[in-house]
Order: sequence, then structure tokens, then C-alpha cells
Amino acid sequence: MSNQTLNLDDRLYRYLVDHSVHEPEVLTALRHETAQHPMAQMQIAPEQGQFMALLVQLLGVKKALEVGVFTGYSALRVALALPPEGKLVACDVSEEYTAIARRYWEQAGVAHKIDLRIAPATETLDQLIQAGETNSFDFAFIDADKSSYPTYYEQVLQLVRPGGLIALDNVLWSGQVADPTVQDRRTNTLRALNDTIHNDDRVVASLVPIADGLTLAMKKP
Ligand code: CA
Repeated sequence: MSNQTLNLDDRLYRYLVDHSVHEPEVLTALRHETAQHPMAQMQIAPEQGQFMALLVQLLGVKKALEVGVFTGYSALRVALALPPEGKLVACDVSEEYTAIARRYWEQAGVAHKIDLRIAPATETLDQLIQAGETNSFDFAFIDADKSSYPTYYEQVLQLVRPGGLIALDNVLWSGQVADPTVQDRRTNTLRALNDTIHNDDRVVASLVPIADGLTLAMKKP
């Protein structure tokens, strides 16, 4: 028994996945196709996808936002958890990666729920703010270029409704945030943002050590 978060070895991690994850076939197929991709590590882990889908259902999310789509695994998980009238606005810059995503969204029958915007996400988020969509999203997932995380966080905080949830991926950054010898720009940006959120009176937050670290920040009602 331990009252600290366990350090999962391969055997225990496999146990966790085998005894907890139910992954629809279309997601397994997408995960396998993405595993062949040179940037495969950008895809979220299956247990994280399942956890996010649970949050979406718990919150009764109807309107969701994603910053950073890649090949569409997390967007597909979220879209499958949305009700029939639910919508996901998904931001990415890559036509190439999202072409794979679109193929699987079609196959899963949820493409109509996903509004994919190909542009720098800061521009898309600004457009949503200008269009009066502030305080209207129930859930947002930020998983894109780490250097822009602070900007995405501030924009998304405007767009999420009071009581809505922001999830930020990779906040433990393979453990590098805790290693003082690592001083590159992305690691320092993540460190600074982790501290900002820790002291941010606008949210109630928790850093969850699932996969590469997932911060959950609820905008205060
Ligand atoms: Ca990620």
C-alpha cells in the first residue's frame, strides 16, 4: 500500500490497461495506424482517452474545444462521448495529419459533430472570442505546441463557461519539469504555466499523473 502516486513499471501499466480500458474498435484501428507515424508519440494514451471521455460524460458536455488534433484520437474519443447534438471545435495547422483524423471520424459516424479549423489555433480561438462564444464551452483539451500553452490557456479560459473544465496535456513533460538541469524554452514554459495555474484564483485545478501528466482546471463558477 502506498499513499504516494505509484511509479508504474511495465507490468503494472499493462495490468492497468488490461483491467480498465475499453477501446472501441475504430479507436484501436486509429491508434495502430498512428503508431506507424514518425510523430506517433503525439497521440494520447488509451487510458487517458477513456478518462477524458468519462469526464465529458460526467460534465454532460455539449460543446467542446480541442487545441491540437494530430491524427484525431482524442477528438474521436470526445466526439463519441458527446450527445447526438454535441459539437467539438477542433484546431490544428496540419491538413496532412488531420486527413487521417477525418477518415476515422467518418468511419465512426461522428464527423458531423466535429468542426475542424485549419489555422494557427491562436487565430481560431481569437475568432471564437470575437464571435461572442466566450463562456460557452463546457470542456476544452489543450495538446499542441508547448511554447504557446500560456496563450492557449488564457484564450481557452475566456471561452470555457463557469464550471467548465480545461484539460492540459504533457504538463509533467516526461519528468523534465522536475529536473533543474533541463533549461530549454518549452520545459521552462511548461514549468511557468504549471506555477501560474497552481496560483490562479480563476480556476480550481488538479495535476493528475496520468500518462505524461494532465492538469484539470475548472473555471470557477
Ligand atoms: Ca500530448
